[in-house]
Amino acid sequence: VEKTLAAIKPDAMEEHRDEIMERIQGAGFTISQIKETHLNQEMAEEFYKEHRGKPFFDELVKYMCRGPCLMMILSKENAVQEWRSLMGPTDPTEAHTSSPDSLRSLFAKSVLQNAVHGSSNEKHAMEKINFIFGDIELE
Ligand code: ATP
Ligand code: MG
Repeated sequence: VEKTLAAIKPDAMEEHRDEIMERIQGAGFTISQIKETHLNQEMAEEFYKEHRGKPFFDELVKYMCRGPCLMMILSKENAVQEWRSLMGPTDPTEAHTSSPDSLRSLFAKSVLQNAVHGSSNEKHAMEKINFIFGDIELE
């Protein structure tokens, strides 16, 4: 079954962790692995290396290092896309109109502080899973 990497970002950890977990389980995902990770600057830069050079890169790295994230491997058929759709669009103002029940519509504060992360494709999912959880065996 397909797997993806999901994260609850630091601000949402403080305020919405339990509700986000409930919604993940309610949507039929299996949480295959879970751990709290406080990223340092170097790790956050690697985690979001695809965005290096973009105008928001520095504030993104700083935001991700602000406190611990909850890192999860989610399993479900079509997990990558299913998790992206449960998260909703990057920008909450867009989420409010296009997917009002999505996690970002409900919990994001801004386009930067948008509560959750999800891999954008299967290749990234494998890379980020290995980066966060090490080269664990996945069935
Ligand atoms: P993620 O990769 O965290 O799941 P995403 O795939 O929806 O989010 P990306 O384009 O990959 O969006 O951007 C990565 C993260 O960078 C966003 O989740 C958000 O925290 C931040 N970000 C994206 N665009 C902007 C922006 N224009 N201004 C500020 N921060 C931004
Ligand atoms: Mg992304």
